[in-house]
Amino acid sequence: MRRILVFLTISILMVGLSFSFYINYKVQSGDTLYSISKGFGIPIPVLLDWNSDITSANIKVGQSLKIPFNPGIMFKPTKTISLSTLAKMFFITAAEIQSVNPSIGTTIPAGKEVFVPLGRENTSFTELADFIWPVYGEISSEYGWRIHPIYNKRLFHTGLDIRAQTGTPVFAARSGVVKFAGVKSGYGNIIIIEHSGGYETYYAHLSKINVFVGLRIEKGDFIGRVGSTGTSTGPHLHFEVRKYDETNDPVAYLPRTNTYVMRRVLSE
Ligand SMILES: [Zn+2]
Repeated sequence: MRRILVFLTISILMVGLSFSFYINYKVQSGDTLYSISKGFGIPIPVLLDWNSDITSANIKVGQSLKIPFNPGIMFKPTKTISLSTLAKMFFITAAEIQSVNPSIGTTIPAGKEVFVPLGRENTSFTELADFIWPVYGEISSEYGWRIHPIYNKRLFHTGLDIRAQTGTPVFAARSGVVKFAGVKSGYGNIIIIEHSGGYETYYAHLSKINVFVGLRIEKGDFIGRVGSTGTSTGPHLHFEVRKYDETNDPVAYLPRTNTYVMRRVLSE
């Protein structure tokens, strides 16, 4: 009887697993977020995305964590998109998405949640540039003087706005160490990464922050998700590049011919 029960339990678990992209792991004594990340081969920001209630400091023995089988995250489009657009949003190929979602089709309807792998090689690396585009979207406001959309005054825009759906993944533009991760008045949820050479990059208005201060980040790592927190008229990424705390035009540092971000200058 007992043997049958065990067999049944295992069978049910296996059926359950075949329909999901993750396992539940019980935290063992001695585990840290770093050791779990290394053991399963899943980057820390991906673990934080799957387990929004945890931080590096609060994991406890016996606590259950969701661990995806492959480095990847769930994405639920707010608007219907094509498979090729979804691939561009993740800087990967459509084939990589199809390999884990054989029945995905060519359109992903709004509200349908899909598992999307994070590519081993971010395709925006194909451009040899020091910085890479942090998000796929459409530039909605350039760096420099502008009439502010909310204050209706002439104000200096310290970064570049890239419009994208809520939940779109945000990637580190350059390798560095997280200097700030949290809320800053007008910026809303913001990540600041410190790089060599006196540079810092700012990623603002996020809906989700998946890093913490002190975390080492490589160029192209997934770090958070697009949102509309802080002073914002709709979901977009406000991206800044600072050198010795002076803001610069981010476009000057980004790959010029990257076809993944739509920009007027591309056709110039
Ligand atoms: Zn902005």
